[in-house]
Amino acid sequence: MGVAVDNPYASAGPWLRGNMHGHSTFSDGSETFEDVLADYERRGYDFLAMTDHDIFVDPTEYRANTTLTLIPGVEVSRNGPHVLQIDARELIEPDRDRQTVVDAINAQGAFAIMNHPNWGYNFNHCPHEVLEAVDGYAGIEIYNGVIERLAGTPLATDRWDMLLSKGRRVWGYAHDDSHSPIDVELAWNVARAAEDSVPAIVEALRTGSFYASTGVEITDVAVADGALRVTTSNAQRIRFIGKHGIYRQTTDGASASYALPTDAEEAEGLAYVRAECYGAGGAVAWTQPVFLNADA
Ligand SMILES: [Zn+2]
Ligand SMILES: [Zn+2]
Repeated sequence: MGVAVDNPYASAGPWLRGNMHGHSTFSDGSETFEDVLADYERRGYDFLAMTDHDIFVDPTEYRANTTLTLIPGVEVSRNGPHVLQIDARELIEPDRDRQTVVDAINAQGAFAIMNHPNWGYNFNHCPHEVLEAVDGYAGIEIYNGVIERLAGTPLATDRWDMLLSKGRRVWGYAHDDSHSPIDVELAWNVARAAEDSVPAIVEALRTGSFYASTGVEITDVAVADGALRVTTSNAQRIRFIGKHGIYRQTTDGASASYALPTDAEEAEGLAYVRAECYGAGGAVAWTQPVFLNADA
């Protein structure tokens, strides 16, 4: 028996940076849709999904006036924990049962992300029972920028490690959730996509070929010669984390390798490995996990 490694990262293709959670005056944002696009474009973003609350804004008419690759999105907000609908085709019913919401999102070929779990005075916008009970979402927000100025905590890697430790294959996303210009460029995803197009970027973001960041730049994530290797341009320390959130290795420097287990029992105990890359000023980049399976 050996060990099989599921690595979500595409081996080639451009790294493209974008935000998939933002609001305009179509819902409760302070700026017009056009002004928000211009802001992200000026900062050199490659793609953007605007996700106004419970309203579907078709980005088609805005494409002529921006260099951004625009992905259609909605934030399903009424009646329960907020759910992002990415690559949206049409508005869905905000059913109280979030399983029904996620199923409806998937049925139209879009994908779902559970938002800001640790928002609010109880740090519990999305109860963990809901995250565990609902199936079929692509991932959760592990960092939500606007919560820097709201109650709760932007960070939700605690929820992520709990889900991953129960065998769930869910990705960790970082978004601005921008409602005003002060929320822009706090957190983003960088996708390794086959090309700069809506279908290719959506596919990368849906299948885990991306990393989340608040400022550290990853230039490569690869599994080779039995190790997970992470290369960055500006990390000062890289930490590898496995099942139950246990720190498995900490390495100082801009790149690091973690030797993956070759023993099936060890692989089962580890279950997954993900890296956190820390830079100056508290900036972090989070890789997606690679999953380990005993291979018969
Ligand atoms: Zn929300
Ligand atoms: Zn939002």
